[in-house]
Amino acid sequence: MIQQTLVLIKPDGLKKSLTGNILTRLSETRLDIIAAKIVSVHRELAEEHYRHLKDKPFFRDLIKYICGEFHKRKVLAMIYYGEEAISKVRELAGATNPEEADAVSIRGAYGRITTSGVYENVIHVSANEEEAEREIKLWFEPDEIIVDIYPSKIVKKEMEKKVWV
Ligand code: UDP
Ligand code: MG
Repeated sequence: MIQQTLVLIKPDGLKKSLTGNILTRLSETRLDIIAAKIVSVHRELAEEHYRHLKDKPFFRDLIKYICGEFHKRKVLAMIYYGEEAISKVRELAGATNPEEADAVSIRGAYGRITTSGVYENVIHVSANEEEAEREIKLWFEPDEIIVDIYPSKIVKKEMEKKVWV
């Protein structure tokens, strides 16, 4: 089945200069990148992205982590697209807990657990089709994606916009 999945190289992955290595590992999947951008993550986006964890004791630190307070204030957000994209990317990423992740997986190779208990696991990947759709629609506008993956519509908007001087 053709699928799409959200991949984030998290602030620790960027800070540790792992972007090239991670992209090389992900290219093993032969999937297509159909969207990519650098995002400075604000609190509302972080809290919405991780809303399923809001009752966990590590939630506050997790939000600080993904917002880049411990590393760099940015993430690289991408959409990978192709046959069985979700399971292919998730398998390469490895288990959530970097100490339990396969040693040759991305998280197993590069992740760590902080002294406060947060899993700094360098990459986010969607877990299933429902999550992928929710996350992709949260992180990207339809026009930022070069394939029509979900239904969209045209609306007329009068709005302020920053342009080059
Ligand atoms: N996380 C953590 N401790 C936990 C579970 C999760 O620090 O016990 C962090 C970790 O960075 C993880 C993120 O919260 O990637 C989201 O958790 P989720 O359960 O959705 O795991 P994932 O889908 O990222 O494998
Ligand atoms: Mg998850």
